[in-house]
Amino acid sequence: MGRKPLIAGNWKMNGLKADGLALAKGVAAKLKGEPGLACELLVCPPFTLIAAVADAVAGSGVAVGGQDCHAKVSGAHTGDTSPAMLVDAGCSYVILGHSERRTDHGETDALVKAKAIAAHAASLKAIVCIGETLVQRDAGQTIAVNQTQLRGSWPEGGAAENTVIAYEPVWAIGTGRVATPEQAQEVHAAIRAELGQIIGAAEAAKVRILYGGSMKPDNAAQLIALPDVDGGLIGGAALKVEDFWAIAKSCG
Ligand code: PEP
Repeated sequence: MGRKPLIAGNWKMNGLKADGLALAKGVAAKLKGEPGLACELLVCPPFTLIAAVADAVAGSGVAVGGQDCHAKVSGAHTGDTSPAMLVDAGCSYVILGHSERRTDHGETDALVKAKAIAAHAASLKAIVCIGETLVQRDAGQTIAVNQTQLRGSWPEGGAAENTVIAYEPVWAIGTGRVATPEQAQEVHAAIRAELGQIIGAAEAAKVRILYGGSMKPDNAAQLIALPDVDGGLIGGAALKVEDFWAIAKSCG
């Protein structure tokens, strides 16, 4: 389908300037040594480090993203960051609707959709996160929950060129408990089928669907090799150059 895998590091609320710069420079140096890498690399630092990291990786091919943005262009929204501010700081991507945002900040599908539309208006690519909880999985609701979140969060105007989906089972994030290849492929295929209902099968076939949830060097290859898995959104393992690079190399 010509989908180039995306390996995206979500640094979450980790790192001060020295740590972030060392990590970013380490990733950029690895990519410099291997320009033919089979995947695209993205790092998503905390807001405070975005500009410095963007400077550090400029020209290396490593993309930079935010971990959230506001749905409005500007205004009285204390503590928030607009899509244009992310672009101004050097971002080309933004993660939206991560389960930690949905839980910690009460973000709804409708808000995630509004943020994605705003991100697109500022020329950012949106990584829209969806995923079921363990309770929902145990209740047999996995596919339905992901279909509902996808329909509610997918932005009008969304297409392969501006939107990536991250399937992140909540029970696998930061827990060391990873989805089996069968579980991941089942949900990824269902997400792509549902997306086909929204934007048409031909366009859905081009959209990258990342897996996220305790992806590590020792499990990445078998997940990324699945037919509907197009890379990973990586938390803990993205904080170490060697681990992040090993996952990137799993793309072939
Ligand atoms: C994430 O934060 O999106 C994530 C998948 O974290 P981890 O890899 O640590 O499970």
